[in-house]
Amino acid sequence: MFSQRLERVRTAMGVAGVDVLMLSVGSDLPWLVGYEAMPLERLTMLVLPVDGRAELFVPALEVPRVLERPEIFRVRGWTETEDPVAMVAESVGAAESIAMGDHTWSRFLIQLQDRLPRARWQPAGSILGPLRAVKDAREVERLQAAASGVDRIARALQNGEIPLIGRTEAEVSADLGRRILEVGHGKVNFAIVAAGENAASPHHHPGDRVIEPGEVVLCDFGGTTAEPQGEPGYCSDITRCVYTGEPPAEFVEQYSVLADAQRQAVEAAKPGIAAEEVDRVARDVLAAAGLDQWFIHRLGHGIGVDAHEDPYLVSGNHRPLEAGNAFSIEPGFYIPGKWGARIEDIVVCTDVGPRPLNTVDHALAVVEG
Ligand code: ZN
Ligand code: ZN
Ligand code: ZN
Repeated sequence: MFSQRLERVRTAMGVAGVDVLMLSVGSDLPWLVGYEAMPLERLTMLVLPVDGRAELFVPALEVPRVLERPEIFRVRGWTETEDPVAMVAESVGAAESIAMGDHTWSRFLIQLQDRLPRARWQPAGSILGPLRAVKDAREVERLQAAASGVDRIARALQNGEIPLIGRTEAEVSADLGRRILEVGHGKVNFAIVAAGENAASPHHHPGDRVIEPGEVVLCDFGGTTAEPQGEPGYCSDITRCVYTGEPPAEFVEQYSVLADAQRQAVEAAKPGIAAEEVDRVARDVLAAAGLDQWFIHRLGHGIGVDAHEDPYLVSGNHRPLEAGNAFSIEPGFYIPGKWGARIEDIVVCTDVGPRPLNTVDHALAVVEG
């Protein structure tokens, strides 16, 4: 699996005319070699020549955490009195064109640029983004496991098993976080709980507002799966809304338009359609009901080792979807001071059509507790 990824990366480097790829903190490194750099002031850096052996420079005290993959890279621990920037620069040698990981700290980039004055630099994301956007079978399997985990929580929410009325948004958010860890995730990435008028803020920060009878509660949550050492985790991300009591007819009507928009966008997500067209499908359904003015964000984002990555389903992204793309489809409407709603599933684009990984009911659940 990692060897195949490495081959794809080397091919893309060749096409882009890149001599050396360098990766430090962020998700590119675990995606490529299974090791995640500690976000320390100490330098971690993979140096991958387009041909030749890759070297992974890590602080010596981190070496025990590295699962060695000799067929892919050689581990080079550096001690507290060595100069890792000099070691990395020496490994890069006379390379002229370097692709540097997007999340590398500028301190290290600037020091390396001083040491390698003749090199030309570009962000590694332009090479790795399109590769990471096409998931292999193992990645789809892990994304499915992540999605199935949060599906169980969403079902519990809809079944009224997660108490809402009388609790604060923050309490429910903490409850969701605990459950995320219980269903096979190693990390909680976010657990948005937004009640009533707060649901009109798409990324509302759950606070001490108490949830009352007769309002919408929007829950958007996800984490990163726990994996064995040497394997990256994959992200989940789901949004469901419930109503604490019988919802008013106006909300029911708007919500059913939203569910329709979400369903039609999922059905449109086939190989070959431009990413922006899928966004357009949902927007048009909302527009027909006058709700598009309240749909104030893009339709979706890719998902994998990162919670947000390529491809982005947004107006202006003309790139066609490909089999293996995994992304959210999450239209919403947000009416300031009143209420809001969003429905979000993760979908994989396949040759036989869109495959939703989340299978929890889309109907607006009424909960009494
Ligand atoms: Zn979001
Ligand atoms: Zn979400
Ligand atoms: Zn999302």
